[in-house]
Amino acid sequence: MATPAADTQGGKTWFGHPPQLARLFTTEAMERFGFYGMRALLTLYLANYFLFSDQTTNGLYGGFTALVYLTPLIGGLLADRYLGSKRSVKFGAVLMALGYFILCFEGGAAKPYATIEGARYEVVVGSASDAKQQYVIDGDRHLAIKGQEDGTIQLLAEDGAVARTIGKGGFVAGADRSEFYVLLMLIGLTFVTIGNGFFKPNISTMVGTLYAPGDRRRDAGFTIFYMGINLGSLFSQLLCPLLATTVGWWAGFGLAAIGMMLSWYLIQFDHGALDGVGEPPETGGRDRSLLIYVGALLAGPVVLFLFYNLMNTPHVEPGAGFLGYLAGLPLMGKLLFGTFLLSVPAILIWSAKVGSRVEFQMMLAAMVLVVFNVVFWTLFEQAGSSLTLFADRNTDLSVFGLFSISAGQTQFFNAFFIVTLAPLFSMLWGALGRRGLEPSIPVKFAIALIGVGAGFLLLVWGTQYADSGFKVALWWLAGLYFVHSAAELCISPVGLSMITKLSIARVVGLMMGVWFLSISCAQYVAGLVAQVASVQTVGGQVTNLKVSLETYAGVFWTIGVAAAAIGLVLLALSPLIKKWMHGVQ
Ligand code: GLN
Repeated sequence: MATPAADTQGGKTWFGHPPQLARLFTTEAMERFGFYGMRALLTLYLANYFLFSDQTTNGLYGGFTALVYLTPLIGGLLADRYLGSKRSVKFGAVLMALGYFILCFEGGAAKPYATIEGARYEVVVGSASDAKQQYVIDGDRHLAIKGQEDGTIQLLAEDGAVARTIGKGGFVAGADRSEFYVLLMLIGLTFVTIGNGFFKPNISTMVGTLYAPGDRRRDAGFTIFYMGINLGSLFSQLLCPLLATTVGWWAGFGLAAIGMMLSWYLIQFDHGALDGVGEPPETGGRDRSLLIYVGALLAGPVVLFLFYNLMNTPHVEPGAGFLGYLAGLPLMGKLLFGTFLLSVPAILIWSAKVGSRVEFQMMLAAMVLVVFNVVFWTLFEQAGSSLTLFADRNTDLSVFGLFSISAGQTQFFNAFFIVTLAPLFSMLWGALGRRGLEPSIPVKFAIALIGVGAGFLLLVWGTQYADSGFKVALWWLAGLYFVHSAAELCISPVGLSMITKLSIARVVGLMMGVWFLSISCAQYVAGLVAQVASVQTVGGQVTNLKVSLETYAGVFWTIGVAAAAIGLVLLALSPLIKKWMHGVQ
């Protein structure tokens, strides 16, 4: 085992930690600044600027975030074998900055139209006084589009009289958009996807190398690092949407790119601060880095192909059955579920063969928790998609009537609550631990699942108090994020350290990959759930706010109850899982 780099720095520390943690903290904070700044814009950019249907927006968002969490599997492996963590992080940083920069080229906004019983009509979205009303242009008449609860659409004349009623399915919203700029946007997302694979796992590995095995500061070091993640995202989730709404989408993405460039600068020009941390492994003088860089770029078209496949695969109609449903999934879905469903049993069979009974049981405990992890992130990751669309459509975004925030900015609540709650949670676990009352890892997971469900149920409760415009007060959404953030602290940092403690040492990297793979699957399933919460839009605006409120409430209720129930199942299983953990805390 190499000497932890901390020992080479003459005993200097940063808040009692190796001084290199400071540089990794700032580098990761700026990277997350870029990522979450972009994430705060993406769904609304797809729905309100490119005017994609909710179905396409949510599917693409889910697929993109799924791939963003899948590439670390490969990026981690390449760093271990050839590049070393530091070079991987530098390369990933450049790719991600390029990706955000490419997203700045927005082209022109898509132009909405509607096909009504086969005939095409132009659509305009209302001006200042009736900001969110869409009109069909019929000769010299502007007819307001009003979706009805039974799925029909009414077109209203200026005096409010019904000029025309269109039966269900007779009205199809569309938009003319530049194929070139769609391609450019997808290329931007491709760079982010590949770059993240090189960056995200390896910066975390570098934190790990700062501590010798058994160093008790390790968990606290990761908590500080997790705070850096959320500190970075907190600011960008406020600033990027602000720029997007006041200056233009390009400015919001541009700020994400600047943040990412700063992250690259911090690691590229570390003035020796990270000497000896994340260096390349001994490869016998053969440098494969150029080959890997070129290979990574050549993987770009594959990622692009998966994105297009995702957008163009027709939606499976209900009634196709479970197998029909699986067969109809886009390639990316098959790839993710296939990898997950094969790797979980395969790793367990392997550990039963090579490990002792105790080692096998510990691996089994880890795998069971990994499976429950999918449920948590499926709900939690509605934040970037359906919850942001809910904020845009059915939330009154005013703060005490003083000013309003934008829909994208609501994502900031999570980072804010993590930064404020993380120290309290460490104190809470410490205090409970001293009394011998700290919940076991499976119980913490169960609390997280019940919490993420309860957050949604809280919001559903709030929908009863929506105003006459079918908008709920912002505080209900903030309440959901408060509960979700507390739940996140019970599962996310706990899960990372659980993997390192329960895995057979030889496969700890692989198991970390499986942990991220479970989050990747969850991102994809989250996209599917958000698709169920899709509502009809024309020109990026919903056609009936009452219907959208009811749709969101229905889906959020179902997933909230399901997660809480699954959490209770885990709670019931927890004594057994704890037994399999053989004393690991
Ligand atoms: N918010 C954390 C991060 O960005 C955790 C996200 C996750 O693991 N799904 O790193």
